Amino acid sequence: MIFLCFFQTHNMTETSKDTPKSKETDKVIKQLSAKINKEPKNAGHFFKRAQQYSKKEDYEKCFNDAKHALDLDESLVDAAVLGGEAATKCGKFQGAHSIFSIGLKQNKKDENLIKGLKKLQRAIVDSYDTEDTTEQGYNAVDLCTQSPYPGDDQLLNLEKEILDRRHDIREVSRLPKKEIDPDLRQRAAQAAMAGHKSMIAGKFTDALESFTYAVDIETDNIILRRLRAEVFFINQDPVSAMKDLMHIQKPERTADAWKLGGKLLMEFKLPVLAEFWLRKASELAKGKDEETAICFQKVRAHRLYDPLTKDMPVTVDFTMYGKAVFAVKDIKAGDIVFSDAPIVTTPYIADDKKQVVKGCNHCGTSLMTARDYFQGKLDNMDATAKEVVENNWPVTKPVVCSECKLVTYCSNICKNTAWERHHELLCPSRSKATKKLYDIDQNKGWGTDVDGTWKELWSGHFSAYILAKIWANIAADVKLWMKQDGKDVPEMMHWAKAKAPFRKFIAFGVGSAANDMPYILKIMNDIFRDCGDGIKMDITEQELNGRYYQAACNLQIYSDPVTPYHKFYDNLSNFNPEDPKALSILKYLDDKIPSASFSGMFPLHACLNHSCMNNVEVSDGEVNGVPGVSVRAKTDIKEGEELTTTYIDTTMPRRLRRAWMYKSFNFWCQCPRCQFEGDDAYSCSNCKKRAGDTPFKGCGKCHRAWYCSSDCQKINWKEGHKLVCGVAHSKADYS
Ligand SMILES: [Zn+2]
Ligand SMILES: [Zn+2]
Ligand SMILES: [Zn+2]
Ligand SMILES: [Zn+2]
Ligand SMILES: [Zn+2]
Repeated sequence: MIFLCFFQTHNMTETSKDTPKSKETDKVIKQLSAKINKEPKNAGHFFKRAQQYSKKEDYEKCFNDAKHALDLDESLVDAAVLGGEAATKCGKFQGAHSIFSIGLKQNKKDENLIKGLKKLQRAIVDSYDTEDTTEQGYNAVDLCTQSPYPGDDQLLNLEKEILDRRHDIREVSRLPKKEIDPDLRQRAAQAAMAGHKSMIAGKFTDALESFTYAVDIETDNIILRRLRAEVFFINQDPVSAMKDLMHIQKPERTADAWKLGGKLLMEFKLPVLAEFWLRKASELAKGKDEETAICFQKVRAHRLYDPLTKDMPVTVDFTMYGKAVFAVKDIKAGDIVFSDAPIVTTPYIADDKKQVVKGCNHCGTSLMTARDYFQGKLDNMDATAKEVVENNWPVTKPVVCSECKLVTYCSNICKNTAWERHHELLCPSRSKATKKLYDIDQNKGWGTDVDGTWKELWSGHFSAYILAKIWANIAADVKLWMKQDGKDVPEMMHWAKAKAPFRKFIAFGVGSAANDMPYILKIMNDIFRDCGDGIKMDITEQELNGRYYQAACNLQIYSDPVTPYHKFYDNLSNFNPEDPKALSILKYLDDKIPSASFSGMFPLHACLNHSCMNNVEVSDGEVNGVPGVSVRAKTDIKEGEELTTTYIDTTMPRRLRRAWMYKSFNFWCQCPRCQFEGDDAYSCSNCKKRAGDTPFKGCGKCHRAWYCSSDCQKINWKEGHKLVCGVAHSKADYS
């Protein structure tokens, strides 16, 4: 299982110094570019151009070329060194790490690579030290909209009816002005004052009595009604509270009244009505009331996720940090908490790996053949072993698309479903644009631009097909909804319904993918301009950016947990261990199992937050026989506790962890470990005092916290270090 890390790239301002030397460099670059156009598979040309870009201090281009040179020829260790250093210089730490790793595979002891890695580590730590830690780039609440969903107006009326029938609550028209005896009015005012005092003192039964006395006299006093509603709410009498609020006419309801009503409606489990009231409260508070905004998103989270988590021991809720998954019952360590299926998926090829095994392009099922696994060994095997393989390796029956003959599926069912859901629009045989998209994907993002130059047209760390499949799925659903309604042209409602499944994924990122990749914007528009049946899709810059960051924030790498190899191995276990046949094959088995990796968007898994002391682990799993992810409890989890996974290698020290998290996910981790561990021996992990020349003593057990005095150690231990000291950590493969 690998986690994708997406780094914001620092925008390089190109320094174009007009010296004769730089002119010479430009000339060489031009010549090399011409060569590249003629021979786009020549690694040497790319490496040479990377060297020129390095001279120009254009590190981003240098990195791209060096990376591409390595893609074409893994043995170019010098390209790894050059590219890694360039990536470090322009802040692409993830890229640097991965390119150095490719180099190290060739030569573990290469001094320049090791030097480069050390520099990278220093750069990460430096960037962490200079980063302003108070700056929060990400505000979960602000990122979520409050716009109503399609069909909400009908649901709203339905919920009003339920409120009326089930609880006898409805809007009350204005009561006629009453003539009140001045003495009585005086007494009502006194009661109201007393009620208010009791409320502040926390004596809610007294408060209720006083307010009721006052309301009985001044039945049309809306301030009294609202205060009493508040007290009813606290006294857990939502029906009476709501009835009081209904006495306040809509134009006279304050933000507080709308907010209280929203909370009450949450208790009545009437989400659409609750959203309506909370939206009103937000509007009146001009979006400045955080509690209202969070309440609104809580309602929304339950609307979206309750149907998904119905049979699971978890629920999705919304906190000030965004969506989060909580246990609704105690969960034991080792239990599978839930499994999740992707809503879109594409094959994933890591920078430093070559895909040898095919998987079904639609469902991700591994189609590993005996040759994929044994490779050359298959030809030199002795006859007995060969026979064992022939008789026991499960037969896979891959099916290719009959139009393009390029895309492979595990079965006719997958082939047909894929055609309906996305491949009809994306099949490389459909148009020039779809073929181009296919070629760019095959070339890891590279292709010929409109001006004829060979360059990186797609720079995402994932396949551009993810975005294409999202749009194709939407188009397919619009078609379905439209036909179901017996319409010839799609309506707003059909679009909204088709886009609904993708609302679950948050999008966050800086910079414009559409600006960086104009060619992709163009071919996506070429593809979706005409989706058939009169359906047209306009892929605007905003649409491309939104989907791009949705994918970047939510993609998860996974692969089929039960491959043909696993089945083969299972078959072997039926042999008698003494059987010479069983023995003959053993020497050919290797624990390196090649996999068909996919990257997918998982709606529920995407709600898990990070902690450096994660209590769940994500692994390859399956849902209804189709590959997906499984989330397993790492420790015992109590009812009400948040489930957390990790996005990074949590064995790293705090400073590195936080730097990685900030660089890749743009937030400062505030998990218990990050709070109760220290950075180094030169600052006290409790009182933050700086050490002089002699470092402070560290915690003898975990060596991850340092203290100026034993008092500080005791305080820190009590406050939380005891929770994090000596916990075993996950070493996620985060590269
Ligand atoms: Zn399949
Ligand atoms: Zn096809
Ligand atoms: Zn942390
Ligand atoms: Zn201290
Ligand atoms: Zn410790």
